[in-house]
Amino acid sequence: MTGLTAVIVAVLPRVAFAARNSLRTVRTGIQPGNKTRLVIETTERPSYSISYPANQVVITLSNTSANRSLVPAMAAGTLVNAITQAQSGDKLQIIADLAKPINEIPKSNIMLLSPNGDNDYRLVMDFSASGNAAGMVASANAKNTSSSQQSKTPARKYTIVIDAGHGGKDPGCIGKGGTKEKVVVLSVAKKLKDKLSAAGYQTYLTRSNDTYLKLAQRAEIGEKKHADLFLSLHANANPRRSMKGFSIYTLSEKASDEEAQKLADAENAADKIDVSGFEQFDKNIRIALSSLQQHAVAAMSVEYANGCATQFKKAKITQQPGPAVRHAPFAVLRSTVPGALIELGHLSNASEERLLKSSSHQDKLVAAIVKSVQAYDFDV
Ligand SMILES: [Zn+2]
Repeated sequence: MTGLTAVIVAVLPRVAFAARNSLRTVRTGIQPGNKTRLVIETTERPSYSISYPANQVVITLSNTSANRSLVPAMAAGTLVNAITQAQSGDKLQIIADLAKPINEIPKSNIMLLSPNGDNDYRLVMDFSASGNAAGMVASANAKNTSSSQQSKTPARKYTIVIDAGHGGKDPGCIGKGGTKEKVVVLSVAKKLKDKLSAAGYQTYLTRSNDTYLKLAQRAEIGEKKHADLFLSLHANANPRRSMKGFSIYTLSEKASDEEAQKLADAENAADKIDVSGFEQFDKNIRIALSSLQQHAVAAMSVEYANGCATQFKKAKITQQPGPAVRHAPFAVLRSTVPGALIELGHLSNASEERLLKSSSHQDKLVAAIVKSVQAYDFDV
């Protein structure tokens, strides 16, 4: 008994004084819709609670030590006037003094992001002022937003993994004129890589030649490269040969509509050519993703997909009838990397088959995707 007591006494002080987690940075920013964004970055996955004293929001992080040299990065025009930190035992409180009162932040506006690039774990909260002062704030902040964007220098080089669908023994869909999906999407993927690299992004292709890759292998490349964005390029086919246009998909366990589910089934069938290993990977990824993380990845993916649809429409690229952005359980998107599957057009439609083959139309598609990447907010 005495031996055991001695061990406990020796261990306890270390546990009490060395918090497992530590605060790295706190920063604020302005989001679309004039929302204030508050980001708390920590070295480990934080366990937290949030309270709302008058004109404050207080985030309590358990088992976390303060950053004694913290200089919060404060964007202009947010609701946050000042940020302080207070250590009490192993609990660290981040106290944000607010210019205006806010309501409790809904769960859907709180994201917990895993490390990527130079970022550690990030607890991200978006909120706006309660009450009806929003209009005034919006006009007052319009200038601030643009000036803060102008002065914003990219924190790091963002990494984008471009996935040309299908390949090798899997041709994907084939147009009446014999055009193969795997050939068209590889050509677009290579052009996209060149343009994004030239625009300052770190880029990787899942395949750079006519090889077959399983869907999980593609997703895994996104993970291994610590990608910020994963873009899977495809072309569509429809029994109705008149059907044309692009559509963009993000991952969800439940399809947004029957058409989206059918497409996911068709694209996922690429794995039926070689199913070994997929189930296991899928299970691991599911375990690795907490529900909050899933929520964060899904939210960022939808944000990207919406922006991408906007750029396609601006470029006057024909849109498939129905919603431009849909959701379905695509195996290739199942990872911790935000991303989208882009169906560039229909190979089953004779005029679109001609377009998809043409270099000038491919350039147009690439230009729209590059713009969508440049408009996407990587920094959360
Ligand atoms: Zn495909």
